[in-house]
Amino acid sequence: AAKDAGRGKHCFYEQAMHTEASDRQVLENDLRQAIDKGELWVAYQPIVRTAGEEISGFEALVRWDHPVRGRISPDKFIPLAEECGLIPRIGTWVLETALEEAARWPDQVRIAVNLSPIQFNDPGIVEIVSNALTRTGVRANRLELEITEGVFLAEGESTDDTFGKLKDLGVRLALDDFGTGYSSLGYLKKAPFDKIKIDQSFVRGAASKTSRNSAIIRAIVTLADSLQMETCAEGVETHDDLHLIRDLGCSHIQGYIFGKPMEGESARALASKTTVVPDGYQSLREPRQ
Ligand code: C2E
Ligand code: MG
Ligand code: MG
Ligand code: MG
Repeated sequence: AAKDAGRGKHCFYEQAMHTEASDRQVLENDLRQAIDKGELWVAYQPIVRTAGEEISGFEALVRWDHPVRGRISPDKFIPLAEECGLIPRIGTWVLETALEEAARWPDQVRIAVNLSPIQFNDPGIVEIVSNALTRTGVRANRLELEITEGVFLAEGESTDDTFGKLKDLGVRLALDDFGTGYSSLGYLKKAPFDKIKIDQSFVRGAASKTSRNSAIIRAIVTLADSLQMETCAEGVETHDDLHLIRDLGCSHIQGYIFGKPMEGESARALASKTTVVPDGYQSLREPRQ
């Protein structure tokens, strides 16, 4: 009986694995067609300059509305796209779509686009970026490319070169999800970043957690300041966290408190507003009570 049970279990696992594999295969095929079918779209989340509380720019975040499964998170389909070779196509599409949108915003409003390590390490990336800028007429220094330390882990022959060439183009570079990886400090030395994005895991709930989170954020801000880099705190949801982050000196803030990722049309309306102050928020520009 024990043997039978064992066999049954084995079969069950095999079947589960099989289902998982074919499920993935189906999703991969769906993703392959998603661009042409118009199922992908780009959402824009505001990034606010702490001093003055004005819109600094927006981060482009890709969305997939699957006709049967509904919205699928980029945390799920971007890794899939990276594994099955679809990321260059999707990534280029996001870049071009986002730049077309940014071309309609006031000229000082930046656009941030995430680049997968696979895209970054592709020798053709400089030309792709340069062509997209030329075609849309967006000034290079309005474009901020967000990369993670995955770029260094998957480092190719052209990686170092790419940093230099992108800087020569005039685009800005941000190190995304800072603090979550293995040895992020070394990467700050290696590459000419303009901004550090402090990962949400340090930011969200920082005001109510132990003082450790704020100590870490403060240290990152000090480091960034002395390297003449900007800082952006990601994932600010509450007034308490907003006040804390502001007091810790982060130059930029991104989070639901100022706006969730939104459709292009809404972003366009917000882009021309000079300030975005959330309800009930004690603005820096008003005298403190
Ligand atoms: P990310 O680049 O770190 O983007 C920030 C994520 O945090 C976004 O999730 C955003 O919606 C979320 N977020 C921002 N503020 C808050 C907040 O206050 N509260 C909470 N709970 N979440 C907040 P999203 O859009 O689901 O994207 C997840 C990740 O998927 C991104 O993390 C990025 O790594 C990847 N991704 C999204 N779009 C693209 C893309 O076009 N290309 C590439 N390569 N990756 C992308
Ligand atoms: Mg990002
Ligand atoms: Mg991030
Ligand atoms: Mg992330």
